[in-house]
Amino acid sequence: MWRRVASVSHLTFAQKSIVNKDVCKLKFWEAFSTGIPRKEKGTFQRDKTPFITFVLGGPGSGKGTQCMKIVENFGFTHLSAGDILRREIASNSADGTMILDTIKEGKIVPSELTVKLIQKEMESSDNYKFLIDGFPRSEDNRIAFEQIIGAEPDIVLFFDCPEDEMMKRVLNRNQGRVDDNIDTIKKRLKVFSALNLPVVKYYLERGKLYKINAVGTVDEIYKQVYPLFAQFNFEQQV
Ligand code: UDP
Ligand code: MG
Repeated sequence: MWRRVASVSHLTFAQKSIVNKDVCKLKFWEAFSTGIPRKEKGTFQRDKTPFITFVLGGPGSGKGTQCMKIVENFGFTHLSAGDILRREIASNSADGTMILDTIKEGKIVPSELTVKLIQKEMESSDNYKFLIDGFPRSEDNRIAFEQIIGAEPDIVLFFDCPEDEMMKRVLNRNQGRVDDNIDTIKKRLKVFSALNLPVVKYYLERGKLYKINAVGTVDEIYKQVYPLFAQFNFEQQV
């Protein structure tokens, strides 16, 4: 007899995870050991425990700019979720049109898709130190990362910036992005406070959040960021 199986296609990733709670979870390292053949150096580097930093903040709060400085000083690999999604659009992949439409609307791309793209980048890196910039943007994103990658961030940076300042910066940055216009920015700011701030609160409660005052010059802001990383004595520190 046919057994009726409830469709889960309409559920969010977090809801599906509850439905599929018996599915075996991969540990972070096991997740890294699947599929892709490794270069010798990569295998060696992977003996280290990964160090994952989530970099949060609204549009134009300076996440990408500060990440470049952290990369220079502490040898992190910078993975911007927005850039990864834009590369997916540019590569004409099957999901490209859907991603473009989502970005134009200032909405959030389905969690499983974003996490799998991030996972691919992490797997193909020789590094063990990752800055994941602009992700997770929602509780659903956060849960999907934990489930698929099987890891939590070591620290979470939150660039705290007033909305009018973020709006001004985004409108002045001239990077030719489809979402850097006033209508989309307003939508992005709404999505940010509704969906991203709960993630910020979650990490605050877990003692992992470092709040940075994101108003000031790049160097002034970096003065708050540098000591957070300096305390870990990373070997590539300069
Ligand atoms: N985006 C997404 N999931 C992510 C990261 C980005 O859906 O994990 C989409 C979302 O539509 C967002 C856009 O990509 O508004 C641009 O993100 P990015 O981080 O590049 O821009 P920011 O808002 O930080 O300026
Ligand atoms: Mg960015």
